[in-house]
Amino acid sequence: MSSATMDPPTNLPPMPKPNKQKRVMQAGTGFLLGGAAAAAFIATTIGSLSLLDTGSAVTSVLSVLVITESVVAFGCWLAIMMVDPGTVKRSAETTEPMPGKIVSHLASGEPMDSLPMLVVEDGEIFCTQCLVWRRKTSLKDFTTVAHWTCCVPRRRYVELCGHHCEICNRCVPDFHGHSNMLGTCISNRNIYFLAVLLFMGGLGFMTALSSVFIVFFQRDK
Ligand SMILES: [Zn+2]
Ligand SMILES: [Zn+2]
Repeated sequence: MSSATMDPPTNLPPMPKPNKQKRVMQAGTGFLLGGAAAAAFIATTIGSLSLLDTGSAVTSVLSVLVITESVVAFGCWLAIMMVDPGTVKRSAETTEPMPGKIVSHLASGEPMDSLPMLVVEDGEIFCTQCLVWRRKTSLKDFTTVAHWTCCVPRRRYVELCGHHCEICNRCVPDFHGHSNMLGTCISNRNIYFLAVLLFMGGLGFMTALSSVFIVFFQRDK
């Protein structure tokens, strides 16, 4: 790898600022919509089952099920909010050896935004915003839940060298996309929580629908 022989500068400019306002807005919208969906599924399930004259094991199971699904979905949402999608931090390992072009640019004191977003050297990508190397972290794997949850519906594949998210303003390895409903990047590290969250949403809908059908047929008898 061609790089400067001199040591990388110790006083690097600060990491770019994430668009916090947009992230909070997105996470808030997702939370409100998800919460409204969960409330609707719970109200439909418990409300419709309460119309039955006599309770049965099935009605208790469905009521417990819809609440459990909502709790699990909330847990996944919370995990997505708290788990770092793997943003690349600055360290000796991620910054060194810095491309010569960057070292001389830093030394010249010119603004960083006059540089292109990326410097590619020997197939490896250096992000000029974060000032870190984005190394290849995984291979395309068509068998993972991640692939079927995110890549297939969106018809795109995980970016092998990661991606610099313009909203989070960080480099994320195994990047699947930035979720406008979660206000965070989705990578291989948090996509499983998203998969379970979406699955719980589907189950919640099915539970509410089953309750309506049960009441409909029971009351017709
Ligand atoms: Zn970056
Ligand atoms: Zn992002």
